[in-house]
This record gives sequence, structure tokens and C-alpha cells, in this order.
Amino acid sequence: MMGPSHALSGAAVWLTGSWALDQFADYHQTPLALAVGTAVCAGGALFPDLDLSGKVTRNQGGATVARTFGVFSLFVAEVMEKISLGVYYATKLSKDPRRNNGHRTLTHTVPFTVLVGWGTTALCAHYGKWAVVGILFFMIGLALRGLFDEWAERAGWVVVTLVSAAAAWFTFANLPGDRGYPMIGLAVGVGCFVHILGDMITRAGVPILWPIPIKRRMWTMIGLPNSIALRTGSKAETVVLRGALTVLAVLAALGLVAPSVLQRFDIQV
Ligand SMILES: [Zn+2]
Repeated sequence: MMGPSHALSGAAVWLTGSWALDQFADYHQTPLALAVGTAVCAGGALFPDLDLSGKVTRNQGGATVARTFGVFSLFVAEVMEKISLGVYYATKLSKDPRRNNGHRTLTHTVPFTVLVGWGTTALCAHYGKWAVVGILFFMIGLALRGLFDEWAERAGWVVVTLVSAAAAWFTFANLPGDRGYPMIGLAVGVGCFVHILGDMITRAGVPILWPIPIKRRMWTMIGLPNSIALRTGSKAETVVLRGALTVLAVLAALGLVAPSVLQRFDIQV
């Protein structure tokens, strides 16, 4: 799946989940909290592909997401890729094939998703608003890069970085300080998980069962069979899937925001 589809799936899942919590669990969020959660989940849904490194010194290659903050994120991707490859070799069993890069390994597993979600929550709990502003900056950058890929490509990474910084600062200034920020860690974790599911419907698959050994393989790639797998960049992805995700996101957002708008104008339904 391509970057925009991943980001869109993160946003759609977060909005739909928030709508369900609002309707059935009486858990209400302010419009700002909703926007932050949605952006962070969209960014989180691109995070696992930060394991696709390019040529750092020439500012080339890597996944779209690795170019979000120019050479800085390319460098992070390089490090993530090498760490992933290291973990692959450290845990590989006799039937696991040799690899020369770590893409779609460690960052595409459930333990990684849980670790990232928990780590984000721990950072927010320990450092409060300052951790929040840093995480928001990073995640909003990824979300912008994913959701508005053509704009981001034209604008370049410096503009993306500045817009992310401004958005993070605005949120920092307006977010209440007394609630703790459990939803940010959850949004990152859910985003990562949605990314893994997105890659699972493609041909290459993901090692979702790691670290459960199966037939002397630790890194069994699980994906749909070739005949029904989603082809990256096909019409099924760019038109059908993205269309459905957009409709879902818009409906959930309307369901969340409409009641309070109607109430403001004193309209009874
Ligand atoms: Zn991926």
C-alpha cells in the first residue's frame, strides 16, 4: 500500500473509533482532541515504513515517509532499518531466508506496535506537555506527508517541517494541561497496527506472528494470496479503497461534530 492509503486508513479508523466511543461509551472529546488524535493516528499509520532507508548523503530514496524531514528522517530510517535487520538476524531460525535489508520486519510486528504505543504514553506521562509537543511535531509531519503527498512533494521538506512545528505549537498552546495524554500513545499504537493490517492485504505480507516460531521460521510473512491481494498503486487501491476510507472518515467526523453544531443553533432532532 502507498503512503496516502496508509495515512488515510489511520485517520478513518481513529475517527470511526472515536465516534463509536462517543455513541456507545459516552466518551466525548473536544474538536481539538479529535483533530490531534486523528493526525497522530494518520502519522502513526506511516511510522512502520520508517524502516525503508535511502541514500542519506544524497537525500534520495527511502519511503515517502522517510523524506518527511529531509535528511534528518532519512537518517532515522537508516538507523531503524539497520536495527530491524539486526533483530532479524538475532532471532532468525534455520528456515528464515537471508536478507540484506530490514524493511517490513521488526517495525511490522505486534510487539513493536505495543512498544511504540507504550513508549509514547510513558514519554507523555513523564515529560508532560514538552514530550507532547515533540511527538505532535513528528506525527503531524508524517500525517501531512501522507495525506497531502502531492502538496508535500511540491512544497518540500522544509515547508512540511515548518507547518508541523506551527501545528504542534498551536496544539501545545491550546490543549488543556490537566488531563494527561493517554490518547496520544493509543493513537500512535493504533496507527502502527492499522499500517500492519494494510500491508497484510498486499502480496508481500508482514511477519504479524513474530516472535512465534512456525516450522522453524520466526519471520513467517502473512499476506493475502496473490489472486486476491491488493496490488500497490492499482485502481482498487487509489480509487476504491481510498474512496471508501474517505467516506468512512467524513461520515464519522460528521457524526461526531454535527450534534454539537445543531445544539449551538438550538436545533432539535
Ligand atoms: Zn509497511
